[in-house]
Amino acid sequence: MDDSPGVADRGITLRELAGRPVTDLNGVGVVKAKSLAAVGVESVLDLIGFYPRRYLDRSREATVAQLEPGTEGMVVVRVDRVTARRTRKGRSLVEAHVSDETGKLRLSFFNQPWRERQLVGGMQAVVFGKADEYQGSLQMVGPVVDLIGDRTGRIVAVYPQSEAAGLHSWDVDAALGEALRRTMAVRGLSDPIPAEVRDRFRLIDRSDAYRAIHRPESMAEMAEARRRLVFDELLRIQLALVRRKVELERTLVGIAHALGPTSGSANLVAEFHDRLDFDLTGAQQRVIDEIFADLSRPRPMHRLLQGDVGSGKTVVAVTALLTAVSGGHQGAFMAPTEVLAEQHYFGVAGLLEGMTVLDPATLLGYRPLKVDLLTSRTTASERRRMAAELVAGGVDVVIGTHALIQEGVEFSSLGVVVIDEQHRFGVEQRAALREKNRDGKAPDVLVMTATPIPRTAAMTVYGDLDVSVLDEMPPGRTPIVTMWLTEEEEVWPVVLNEVAAGRQAYVVCPLIDESEALQARSAEEAFAELSAEVLSDLKVGLLHGRIARIEKEETMRLFRSGALDVLVATTVIEVGVDVPNATVMVVLDAARFGIAQLHQLRGRVGRGVHASQCFLVGEAPTPDSEERLKALVRTTDGFELAEVDLDLRGEGTIMGERQKGRNDLRLASLRRDREWVEAAREVAIGLVSDGSGLDTHAELVDEVGLFLGADESAFLLKS
Ligand code: ADP
Ligand code: MG
Repeated sequence: MDDSPGVADRGITLRELAGRPVTDLNGVGVVKAKSLAAVGVESVLDLIGFYPRRYLDRSREATVAQLEPGTEGMVVVRVDRVTARRTRKGRSLVEAHVSDETGKLRLSFFNQPWRERQLVGGMQAVVFGKADEYQGSLQMVGPVVDLIGDRTGRIVAVYPQSEAAGLHSWDVDAALGEALRRTMAVRGLSDPIPAEVRDRFRLIDRSDAYRAIHRPESMAEMAEARRRLVFDELLRIQLALVRRKVELERTLVGIAHALGPTSGSANLVAEFHDRLDFDLTGAQQRVIDEIFADLSRPRPMHRLLQGDVGSGKTVVAVTALLTAVSGGHQGAFMAPTEVLAEQHYFGVAGLLEGMTVLDPATLLGYRPLKVDLLTSRTTASERRRMAAELVAGGVDVVIGTHALIQEGVEFSSLGVVVIDEQHRFGVEQRAALREKNRDGKAPDVLVMTATPIPRTAAMTVYGDLDVSVLDEMPPGRTPIVTMWLTEEEEVWPVVLNEVAAGRQAYVVCPLIDESEALQARSAEEAFAELSAEVLSDLKVGLLHGRIARIEKEETMRLFRSGALDVLVATTVIEVGVDVPNATVMVVLDAARFGIAQLHQLRGRVGRGVHASQCFLVGEAPTPDSEERLKALVRTTDGFELAEVDLDLRGEGTIMGERQKGRNDLRLASLRRDREWVEAAREVAIGLVSDGSGLDTHAELVDEVGLFLGADESAFLLKS
């Protein structure tokens, strides 16, 4: 006999299953196939990846006779008779009379008229709910009902059903039974995960995993299956991300920036650091070193800087920009909004005032370092002037919004780009930036986010970037005390007191919705009311997105200078505003804001030597909003809050912020499976860099393409 594995001995690949329509299966005809298609199941691969919604552990079931009024229980019953009527108050009421050998039970459903169609006489159903006694007989009101057909077994998988598509859990189950029999019986599934990886993480074989996720003998076995399939999902994503990162590094040509004093060039970085009236924190120094290491290499940097509000990211950003300028290149600093761009502009221009750069073309051999602002509000003639200067190298640092990457803006030599707040800035924009240099050299890119996201989420969402973390606050901050109050009355005396003591306050108005117009009106109303009543003795300013730029600048200037006591604002002040004398932050109707937003808003105070307070005002209408507010009261640690946020909101929101493809996460959860994200990343890095260039892992590479689509896998297939 020949020992070498022939085609027939090799397991079936997922790619092969993707090529088999479900109609290949016995018992799946045109009608079934149509209902399956309605839930996205067209191939046998789709089918085996259509995971149970939950499992019924029938070893825990009781008989009707064992049900105790007042306690919860699960029974398997037969539907005997169903009636539907209206109550005197006009509510729809469906009653199902069900039974097993030991007794009878009545199920009552209010306002669920479809139950009449769902519960047909003669059906088997698993019923879970609280039993009580009504008019001498046993009943359950609004129990959870799962129709299981005639399926037996200790653990029953329950699949998502679709009333509209006429798809029942047992239809799925029957088709799956056939699919599993057909695939597993002869060849089994091929398993592309190297054996040593499986051993190391004690992962079961892929065939076993697919069988056990659908037909577990025990809940423990189901958990094993889930572990394995979760790992597969996460590994595919990490392979795509890690490979993309490696590929970018391999193909892009960047600038190897000179560090430190070199003959003939200015050392602007040292000059800048000397000018600061504080020492860098250890974290700033460490992150700057990480960035320097990247900048000095010829491959372009792609680094994410995570740093909590107030951790001092600006100094780091300016250091990177000046490194470029020192070597005769240019820096660009992009902000997500006009207001922020303007603020960064004033901040950075202030920090760099009076600095000079070498310029042999001038009489003196040097000229003032030039910082400019380019937004969509820049007038056409200004824009023309700036475009000409940018391409000639007369502007050293340009700060702006997306306007910066619009057509027509070209640079003499763009060396470093800092992007504030990645999640409003996609991959395409990054690509556009690369086109900006005439010599085709890709600039180094530093992405900054003040919204910390949990480590494992960062690995998934920003998996193609290197990550630096500013995890240390500058010294001399006084902790912010946060309070949650349902009524606002108690807040105003505090504001009056603080102002009397020379401090300033922010009042953030309720969040109406995404509409800037409504938001502006809400701010105007709050402003009118407060300045006419409780705060009538104070100097109150108003800031929102609809106010003209000149006026906005003036208001900010007045607030910064202390000429205004209170600033009533929308979330336009969320990021970037830096007034160390402000010590009170009042957020009205705080439950409407998300954790990250409240954390950002709170970060506007506590920036100086005076003790600061943050008041979150208003009721919490939902348990989630209550959790959010309590978390903010409990901690000021952005990373801890990010974990809470992930727990409360799930990964959907984080994932949604980046491009497609990540919806391969069917079983895996960035919350529950944190350690698996790390394991998968480590394995992916190992596979990508094991010297064989993934050639030996062709099947895995193919699966990345199969699940994540052509875009995601383009990098994988290229090499
Ligand atoms: P972020 O952008 O991370 O929220 P900023 O860069 O705006 O934070 O810095 C917040 C404040 O802390 C600024 O007033 C800045 O001057 C100050 N700051 C930054 N680094 C230090 C430091 N090492 N020591 C003291 N103050 C610092
Ligand atoms: Mg900042």
